[in-house]
Amino acid sequence: MSEKLHLTSFSKDELTDFVKNLGEPKYRAAQIFKGLHERRLRSFEEMTDLPKNLREKLNETATASTLKVESRYVSTDGTRRFLMKTRDNFPVETVFIPTENRDTICFSSQSGCPLKCDFCLTAKLGLLRNLTAGEIVEQIIIVLNDVYGIGAETPHGTNLVGMGAGEPFLNFENLIKALEIMSEEEGLFIVPNRVTVSTAGIVPKIYELAKLEKRPHLAISLSAPNNQLRDKLMPINKRWNIEELLEAAKEFEKSLRKNERFTFEYVLLGGVNDTDEQARQLANLLNRYELNRVKINLIPHNSAEPLEYHPSSWEQIERFKDILETKGISAFVRRPRGRDIYAACGQLAAKK
Ligand code: SF4
Repeated sequence: MSEKLHLTSFSKDELTDFVKNLGEPKYRAAQIFKGLHERRLRSFEEMTDLPKNLREKLNETATASTLKVESRYVSTDGTRRFLMKTRDNFPVETVFIPTENRDTICFSSQSGCPLKCDFCLTAKLGLLRNLTAGEIVEQIIIVLNDVYGIGAETPHGTNLVGMGAGEPFLNFENLIKALEIMSEEEGLFIVPNRVTVSTAGIVPKIYELAKLEKRPHLAISLSAPNNQLRDKLMPINKRWNIEELLEAAKEFEKSLRKNERFTFEYVLLGGVNDTDEQARQLANLLNRYELNRVKINLIPHNSAEPLEYHPSSWEQIERFKDILETKGISAFVRRPRGRDIYAACGQLAAKK
């Protein structure tokens, strides 16, 4: 028997066609969409507003959910990490990060990752496979249900960051489709303005993203101030180097909306890319490209075996930040969250 269709992957229009093919009226598609996304139901049985025979018909060919939560860890700082499995048994990791004003969910776009960033544990897995749009959406549904209860409203909205496992721009089509589905008012209603997607530097997709009418915010992982070091830390740099990346960033800057900025992320590795000289190099580099609407997030490296890197001292992190700011670059230090449960940046690798 062929695999059941995963209706969480369907746009509203696709769902309407699907329902029509079943010989059902169009409004059933709206009910199912609402059941899946607004009410966050994980099975057709729970959609009691649908007649029983339709629920049975749906169950024959389709499914409402595919991801299974295998384990769930809660950090002392409230961060929650979810280790899930796809129906073909590939690992998916998602992290919930509570903050005072707004909660954030960090989702994965791939199972594993094909890029070989030297400081990242996910890289050790290699690429297992791209996640479908439905699998991306389902991660958010599962986390929201876990934190707030099935279908319950989120108290102060939710931000999404595409910074979990995988390189989102190598799964661009599914990513954009998932964001469209999640932005629907009769669904999760998480608009692109509340989403940030991070790339290791897939340059053509930065240009493509800039052209989209409804697009998420962009973060670019830079992590080195020159090509020599970046080649080593992020081998994708050998395909598109820093100059090509910053040209693309410059072009992206033109697409920014009012009050919007984009972000460079810089993972600070003790003694490797965190010296005063490297901070000056980084500032000069960005100033040379006259990137005015950019900020830098400094991310202290999260140690995890078998990686050999170690975090910078807090004193050096502050110095690095000060040097950037003296040269006119706004810089922020991202406080690590969920380190004790392997939920922090660069630590996602299906570890239990
Ligand atoms: S840092 Fe991101 S892009 Fe690089 S290997 Fe890890 S998951 Fe992939």
